Formats: sequence, C-alpha cells, structure tokens
Amino acid sequence: MKITHVETIPVQVPINQERAVRGGRGAHTISPFLLVRLHTDEGLVGLGEVSCTPLWSGEDQVTAAHCIATYLAPLLIGADPTGVERLCAGMHRVLAGNIFTKAGVEMALWDLLGKAVGLPLYRILGGAVRDYVPTKFSVSGQEPARAAAIAAWAVEQGFRTMKVKVGIEPEQDIARVRAVREAIGPDVRLGVDANGGWAPRVAVQTIRRLCEFGIFFVEQPVAPLDVAWMADVRRQVPVPVMADESLFTLQDAMALARASAADVLSIYVGKGGGIGAGRKVAALAEAAGLTCTVGSNLELGVASAAMIHLAMATPGIGAEEFPCDILGPFFYEGDVLAEPLPISAGSARPLERPGLGVELDEALVARYRVD
Ligand SMILES: [Mg+2]
Repeated sequence: MKITHVETIPVQVPINQERAVRGGRGAHTISPFLLVRLHTDEGLVGLGEVSCTPLWSGEDQVTAAHCIATYLAPLLIGADPTGVERLCAGMHRVLAGNIFTKAGVEMALWDLLGKAVGLPLYRILGGAVRDYVPTKFSVSGQEPARAAAIAAWAVEQGFRTMKVKVGIEPEQDIARVRAVREAIGPDVRLGVDANGGWAPRVAVQTIRRLCEFGIFFVEQPVAPLDVAWMADVRRQVPVPVMADESLFTLQDAMALARASAADVLSIYVGKGGGIGAGRKVAALAEAAGLTCTVGSNLELGVASAAMIHLAMATPGIGAEEFPCDILGPFFYEGDVLAEPLPISAGSARPLERPGLGVELDEALVARYRVD
C-alpha cells in the first residue's frame, strides 16, 4: 500500500458559549481544527485531526496545512503508511517542532494501519486494559454562581468527577470552588486546573485553602517555566499535582520525574507528536512511580477516537484514579463524524471497527469547513 495524496480540511464547530471554558490562560470560545486525509492506492483513507490552538502550541490551521503540504507530504507520498514509526522519525527529521501537526498525520497513519489489518487501533496497541475510559467534566472559570450552575448541570448529565478552572484570581478562585462544591455535594470528585496562572507562593497558599473543599488534584498550579517551581509547590501541598502545560516531550516527562515535580502527567494525542509519543510518556511515568491521564484541547471526533484508543490500551494511564478529558459532545453543537462516538457522562468507548473506527460525514464536513 502506498500513500498517493495528502488532503487537509480546516474546520470549526461552534462551541456552546454558556459552557465554553475560561481559565488561567484565556477563554476557549472558538475551536479550530485541521482534518487530515491520507489517500492510498488501495482505496483506504486514513483520518487524522490537528488541534490548531495557537495559545497552546504556536500552530494554527494555516501553519498546519502549510507544514503538511510543504514538508510532510513529500515524505509521505509514495511511502507505505503501515511503517508508522519510520515515517514519524522521518517527520521529525524534516520538520522541527509543530508537534500537533505531526500528531494529526501520525493519527492518520495508525488509522490506515488498523484498516489495513482489520483491527481497531486499541487492539494493535496491545489490546484493552480497561472496559471503558472513565472521563470527567471541566467547569469554566466563571463567576461562582455561574460555575456552580454549570457544575450542577454536569451532575445532572451523570458526571461523578469534574475539575474547575482556577488560576485567575485567588479570592475568586476560592469562591468559585466553594460554590461548585456546595452545588455538587460531597460525593462528586472535584479537582482544580490553574493552567499555570498562579505564582509559586500564591499557588501554595491558595491550594492549602482549597483543600477545605475536598479537592483531589491540582493541575498545572504554576507556569511551565522551570520544573523547580512545580516541585516546590508539590512539596508544600497535600494533594497530587498534575503536569499539563509543563509536559510536551518525553524529555519534559523525564525532567518532571527527576525533579519530583508532579504526581500525574497529562498526555494529549497532540503533545510530543502523537499516540506513540504519548505511550512512551506513559511508560516513563510507570518507571518513575507516577501515573497519567488524558488531557484535551476539546478535540472533535477523529482525535477523540484516538484519545479513547490510547487510553483503552495504555496501562500507564490511570484513568480510573484520574479520569480523562474526552468531552467534545458536551461542548460542541455538532461534530464531523458519520456515527457519533460512544461518549457519555463519565465514560468513553471506542467504536469496534478497524483503525480509529470513525468515518467523516461529508455534509457535516462541508457545513463546518472554514476555508
Ligand atoms: Mg489543563
């Protein structure tokens, strides 16, 4: 099998503005992605999705499409897509950085490998280590009453675990978490995500006060500048610290582990360059006595499928203890898939079909296309 043509499609699905997530690094009110289709001489088509969130990675729909067309397509066209590792190494050789872009291509390569051998991706990765992927909700950093209303809505949907965005202003952060805890009751598990918004000293003081509300983790309390900052905070607070913005590459994971700067690593399918890179981080975490979760740029269906396969097959992802952020259907007005993924409040499952198991609905792709 050979790749004959690489196609990219910029899309943007509107987000429910009432629930749109605001946090310590701004508001996620629009959500651009780039769909990738790898066409082959055997008629199989591999699907990928690039998270085009410049605030996160410095990549957007234009840079992703440009880098794929200019640097990656020449490497891919004529190549056997089932050589995933070799092609990933090639992508890293011809293009530095741009990891979310490369991850969108890597996802499409895995999809083609699965379709070529007739197996769902999680089975190619070694088979299921869990029956489903536990998920949690993410509550926007709104004023307290509004955040509490969103959290109560999430409980009504069936969520038993959620996180609240903090890191905006310490007194407001505390008022928001208090209001959310009062709204959801004592039994729903509650974490906080500061998106690096607190200075180290403020982080320690604020997290200690938030412990009154029974939080079970704190995500990225300080900016991703020096791992010593996170290590310093972690030593002084009684709850597990999760690294998100501090973790992109395998080397970042190693630095965090060496510095004892985190208890939990947040893996994305985009960070580090894809599913394979995420699996390596999860293995490193196991070796270091840490655990992982799957975090999110609020992916659409193609990348959400990739997240589900990754979490289904990776023992180093402790999704039961730290549920994953696989949440698209709770935020978007629609999606680009022909058949929706089995994602409900608190759980996500793969479609039992080859590769990622998803297909695009052409009419929906046309509706959400933005070029
Ligand atoms: Mg986060």
